[in-house]
Amino acid sequence: MKPDKVLIVDDDKFIRTILKDALAGRYTTLEADNGQTALDMVFSTLPDLVILDIEMPVMNGIEVCRIIKETELTKRIPVILITAHTNRDEIILGMQTGADDYITKPVHPPEVLARVDAHLLYKNYYNELERRDLQMLLELYDIVTVLRNPMKILLFVVEKIADVIEVERCSIISINDVNGIVVKACNDLQENIEIRLDLNRYPEIRKAIETHQAVIVNDVKNDLLMEPVRQYVEALNLNSLIVVPIIKKEAVIGTLLLRTTMKLRDGISERISKLTHLVANISANALENATLFESMQSAKDLFEEMAIRDGLSMLYTHRHFYERLEKEFSRAVRHNEPLSLIFFDIDDFKQINDKYGHIRGDEVIRQIGALIREFVREIDIAARYGGEEFVILLPKTEAPGALELARRISSSIRLFRYKGMGDEQVTISAGISTFTGNSNQSFTQLVDMANQLMFKAKSEGKDRIAIMDQSTAVNQS
Ligand code: GH3
Ligand code: MG
Ligand code: MG
Repeated sequence: MKPDKVLIVDDDKFIRTILKDALAGRYTTLEADNGQTALDMVFSTLPDLVILDIEMPVMNGIEVCRIIKETELTKRIPVILITAHTNRDEIILGMQTGADDYITKPVHPPEVLARVDAHLLYKNYYNELERRDLQMLLELYDIVTVLRNPMKILLFVVEKIADVIEVERCSIISINDVNGIVVKACNDLQENIEIRLDLNRYPEIRKAIETHQAVIVNDVKNDLLMEPVRQYVEALNLNSLIVVPIIKKEAVIGTLLLRTTMKLRDGISERISKLTHLVANISANALENATLFESMQSAKDLFEEMAIRDGLSMLYTHRHFYERLEKEFSRAVRHNEPLSLIFFDIDDFKQINDKYGHIRGDEVIRQIGALIREFVREIDIAARYGGEEFVILLPKTEAPGALELARRISSSIRLFRYKGMGDEQVTISAGISTFTGNSNQSFTQLVDMANQLMFKAKSEGKDRIAIMDQSTAVNQS
């Protein structure tokens, strides 16, 4: 790396030589003997630091310093003023124009070197950080344009920030009407987290949402904003935090939240604040997409579910029932497990339609669907087989278990009072077949058997359940 350039400006050649010797070896030095030449050199060579005598002919050092500090291109160049020991007013004036430091005459070489070192070390440190920040931002832009998965982008964002800005915890929180306040990504948590937040516990997030402005809390333990949640915050050993709203089309769709337990020397710096704002902007699209993606996903799930559900009873369709039956049957064979099937049909449904109308008839089917759904387990497959015929497939269930369930469903249907039908009782006739794991049945036979038994129950007087291996239908009442 090239040594830093120091411009030494003094009308006294003797002083210039002392300064030059003091810096020799570590720095490249340039010299000017008046203010005007000094300014020309500052603009043409952009030195890394300027040592500037105050009292000079043509243009004095204070004027030179003012111009350096007022010019965008040069204002970050550190300026060290040299002044006669006695002139305090000059020192004050010089510092007011933006000088970074001063040295008093007679100059002492080790002190000069130490001051210059300190300023350039700080400058390099600052540049290094800025370069890293810029690099991170560029990487983020790249990732955001390349990655398709918005959740991955958000995770990448929080990990990067936590890495570049030394904070312990960086999270992106999504805010919307449907899901509320949810942590979408966090640098020190696993992928696919979805932690719901209670806004009452996060006054800083609430404030950022309400004001659309960043909220910086440098001293979490003593800040008034955090007063209502002091007891929670104290346990966290937090020191500083910053919340930056992520805004899309004038709405706060989320926040970027940085928290640290470290004592930051100057609290949350301008750099952190600036970076956080930039990153919040970059994240806005990803966050919006992540939320959109999710709602599309749930809409897709809903469509898929609707495709296999009967719209009236909300039970599975005939077709889906057969798909599941085939799978469940082969599973039962493979694991040598029992599988039962209840097949039932509404009794005298034609009369119900004739007496109360088709609309009421539909309502009965809808209600029976609801009753069935209350009784079946997660693993059971209840379907509307046809018009007023229903099936319930019961994995891992022997005949007695199936009979018990059929009885309960049957009596709940009989006891239910249907809308607009007064005390009219609705009854069903059911047949139950069971695969016991060691017969040569096929799954179609399981259905046929249950269907035949259902007809048997009808022929024996309806409102009853017929089961296999029994010559007579089981009378319900
Ligand atoms: P059974 O006790 O022998 O089963 O007599 P049933 O009257 O129930 O039998 P049938 O098969 O003669 O008549 C079934 C009736 O169910 C015919 C049809 O109008 C009615 N139905 C079938 N699907 C629907 C539906 O989705 N909505 C309404 N309202 N009625 C339906
Ligand atoms: Mg019927
Ligand atoms: Mg029928």
